[in-house]
Amino acid sequence: DQLISQIAAGEVVERPASVVKELVENALDAGATRIEVRIEGGGLRRISVTDNGCGIPKEELPLALKRHATSKIRNLIELESVRSLGFRGEALASIASVAGLTLISRTADEDHAWSISEDGVMPAAGSQGTQIEVVDLFFKTPARRKFLKSEATETAHCLRQFEHAALSHPDVDMRFMANGRVIHALPAQAPRERANMILPKEFADASREVYASAPGLTVTGWVGTPTAARQKSDAQFFFVNGRCVKDKTLLHAVKQGYSDVLYNGAQPSFCLFLDVDPMQVDVNVHPTKSEVRFREGQRVHQFVFHAVEAALAPAIS
Ligand code: ADP
Ligand code: MG
Repeated sequence: DQLISQIAAGEVVERPASVVKELVENALDAGATRIEVRIEGGGLRRISVTDNGCGIPKEELPLALKRHATSKIRNLIELESVRSLGFRGEALASIASVAGLTLISRTADEDHAWSISEDGVMPAAGSQGTQIEVVDLFFKTPARRKFLKSEATETAHCLRQFEHAALSHPDVDMRFMANGRVIHALPAQAPRERANMILPKEFADASREVYASAPGLTVTGWVGTPTAARQKSDAQFFFVNGRCVKDKTLLHAVKQGYSDVLYNGAQPSFCLFLDVDPMQVDVNVHPTKSEVRFREGQRVHQFVFHAVEAALAPAIS
């Protein structure tokens, strides 16, 4: 059973950044308005995520760490229309099978917090919300440790996951610290202000607003004008129903929207939020949910292409 959970964990927990992603998504699902992420040693030594969300009732603490225990969906019909970020009930169980995990939580009804770890459930100090601390990631699975890159690279991956969540939740106060240093301290702010804090500097001055809507499809956000283009594809963010995704069709559609104005493989900067009727998109393609499948891929492609083209038109002509 231990082995099976470690194998399954590999699909969800590839590297420290996967832990950051899952814990921040849980905090968002819990309705938190303040989230703090701290990592040490690229996340291998320690990752902690603290939120002021709804908390977990004492009786449900053991369940939260069990595989396939989720409080978010109850049946297949709900799976089809899932709106929460989590729903597989895998993350905490997976993380606990490859690291030391302590969870401290308190709901609004309780007069103190409770903690759960290998030692069981015990009273603890803490205000409303949840704090999860993950230490010594992969210490039980040294083979996986070998695939990891330098501390700097793993830190960058963790930061990237944090930035995805920050871009799609500008109304949440979010903070990221690495080895005790504050990297991001983002107050709740307007979407555009949040994007300006995370995207490269040129983007703030050289970008156009995107907005288009069709039955079951809406796209909002910004595309950088050609002057905000980059050598690397490091300023490209696509969100589908609030999830950051990598998708070739969407990327192709955006690039096509620039027609011929990007030369020599220059990479556009963009931050786009696509909202799709949940019935029209499958997010359950991969355990990390970073890939999606559209029922009508061609229609989505055309929609995004035209939206980007229209946004850029005044800049290009
Ligand atoms: P999932 O998010 O897919 O439901 P997880 O393993 O990530 O599965 O979490 C298991 C359960 O633990 C969640 O369904 C939720 O009930 C609870 N939980 C986890 N993190 C938090 C949190 N930060 N605040 C409140 N509840 C949480
Ligand atoms: Mg989750």
